[in-house]
Amino acid sequence: MSVSRRTRTIAIGRRAIGGGAPVVVQSMCATKTRDVDATVAQVRQLAGAGAGVVRIAVDNEKEVAALKEIRRQTNGVTLSVDLQENYRVAASVAPWVDKIRYNPGHLHHIERSRSIASKVGWLVDVARDNDCAVRIGVNCGSVAPEFLERHPHDQLEAIVQSALHHCDLMERCGFDRFVVSLKDSDPEKVVAANARFAEARPDVPIHLGVTEAGMPPEGITKTRLAFEKLLARGVGDTIRVSLTLPNERKHEEVEVGHRIIEDVAAGRFISVPDFGKGLNIISCPSCSRVENESFVELAQRVKDLARYAAAHRITIAVMGCRVNGPGETDDADLGLWCGPTTVNLKKKDVKVGSFGYTDVLPKLREEIDRLIAERA
Ligand code: SF4
Repeated sequence: MSVSRRTRTIAIGRRAIGGGAPVVVQSMCATKTRDVDATVAQVRQLAGAGAGVVRIAVDNEKEVAALKEIRRQTNGVTLSVDLQENYRVAASVAPWVDKIRYNPGHLHHIERSRSIASKVGWLVDVARDNDCAVRIGVNCGSVAPEFLERHPHDQLEAIVQSALHHCDLMERCGFDRFVVSLKDSDPEKVVAANARFAEARPDVPIHLGVTEAGMPPEGITKTRLAFEKLLARGVGDTIRVSLTLPNERKHEEVEVGHRIIEDVAAGRFISVPDFGKGLNIISCPSCSRVENESFVELAQRVKDLARYAAAHRITIAVMGCRVNGPGETDDADLGLWCGPTTVNLKKKDVKVGSFGYTDVLPKLREEIDRLIAERA
């Protein structure tokens, strides 16, 4: 592996990320955070498979209370927490974790009169007071509006500039204990965005991820296609493989991550010339925000149902929740996102309707047929 890049090293708990440290594989719990027993078991499952950092989603005070207990029972595991739209939760969770991940694209949702710089300054204070590292996690599905306005025809530049801006904001506060991630579900975009960012900031450690890569084996192939290119150039200090898997198989994400790192180090690369030319199913890896446990089964049934359309260049997105579902399905030809009892179906940005978990499948089939007919 030709490594041409050497970042600074930061500490996440007892883990060293960046510099000459080995690439750390991370994963995320998909259990309900409030279910302490299930989440503790999953933290152990992932750490046991070799996850150097385990992330948990926390959205409210009940989950903060659960996190406290999860921390108590998993001492020794490096924990990270994922903040969604309410960045203020950071103050409650930071004492119990080693890293906080925030999304620059979500900071505008609350306290709209407060500047982004002031919010980042506040997050830095929280991280510093609690000995936490930070991840600036930008995502093509939720780009900060001002960057989309500045780069209306170049989404990649919008996410790269957003990440660079947040690095500046952190450093202006005298804080450099952060990593950056630039994620998308398209492996080519992941490669382009990370390569562009790494060139601009060769000193900043990078967390690699292909979001919503979907189910194995296609989800693994997508992820490999991006990670191989980047890791071989020395871009990527920690990685997360996001696969749609039932909870009992979640550790496979970690095993795949280690396998990719070993293969790249040994010069073993895959070649899939036709990959991405036909049907593309993207689905999220699920997390605590999934409101109906049938989500993983639904994703599998969508994949089985759509098999007949394998030769058609159609993207179907299946998302587990109402928080990220609507935004993350925007670029797909057909999008499904799950609520507690119904699944929402849309064609591009037009809603087709809400249907029961079983009823949605024939509707989806109708829409796929219509799409194929329209294109013919
Ligand atoms: S789409 Fe929702 S359920 Fe799926 S990983 Fe993202 S936040 Fe979690």
